[in-house]
Amino acid sequence: MRKSIILKTLIEGGNISLAVIDSTEAVQEAMRRHHFTAVAAAAFGRTMTASAYLCSWLKGENSSLSVTVNGGGPGGKVCVAGDSSLRMRGFVEHPDLDLPPRADGKLDVGGFVGGEGTMTVVSDDGTGLPFTGTSNLISGEIAEDFSAYFLTSEQRPTAVALGVKVKDGKVLGAGGVFLQPLPGAGEEAVSFCEREIGRFTHLSSLIEEKGAEGTLRMLTEEPYDERRLFFRCHCSKKRAEGALLSLGRRDAEALLEEQGQISVHCHYCNTDYIFTKEDIKRLFGEEA
Ligand SMILES: [Zn+2]
Repeated sequence: MRKSIILKTLIEGGNISLAVIDSTEAVQEAMRRHHFTAVAAAAFGRTMTASAYLCSWLKGENSSLSVTVNGGGPGGKVCVAGDSSLRMRGFVEHPDLDLPPRADGKLDVGGFVGGEGTMTVVSDDGTGLPFTGTSNLISGEIAEDFSAYFLTSEQRPTAVALGVKVKDGKVLGAGGVFLQPLPGAGEEAVSFCEREIGRFTHLSSLIEEKGAEGTLRMLTEEPYDERRLFFRCHCSKKRAEGALLSLGRRDAEALLEEQGQISVHCHYCNTDYIFTKEDIKRLFGEEA
């Protein structure tokens, strides 16, 4: 499978930033780990793809951000976190919830997420002073919700198209197109973005057929920058040990007594780290 990538360039005489993302492989990896239904994969995949775009603007090695979409729908919250190296991770609250497709055949992401609520973005540039932006959801379909976020929270009109296509448990195409006028670009650039984004209503099929470069080439012949993006959690057995150590010996031993072993769960990638009695002894030292 093609690697997940983001391509970025400037178009229209340098007035508009264009980004195209092929996130097919990353969404497939998230689906494999979380056992998503098709509609859950689409809700997560669209959110993760737009979050990766946000991450691509992060400056500094230790910057990161998280996005929470809370629309009150039956699928629950969608949470994504990522960093400036475009390593993305996250989950949906009800990954096994299924819904019938909409009348037009598309996955019912709006029905899954719900359209009554907020999107919250917390970004941290590594200085320990996180910035929080919140906007009201428009529909829960994610693309227009991110557009609204860019406009109300960052005062930057941004045209967004997102798509995820799933068949028989396999992600066939997933990605995003983002058109953002640069500051001072003028009304003409804004209407250009609004008009041109309309060509990407079947984005998941375009990504499946043409990939990111072929999709970008629908708008420009300009050279572009390319970066990899990943679904990759930063949890590890070592970090799980750290969580247990901060819990303390007494509580750890009580849990062990109760359950026979201790399982430390990472929500972000659905991994369980199992600790046996021997592991706990080794961790805290022999003497109880
Ligand atoms: Zn994890």
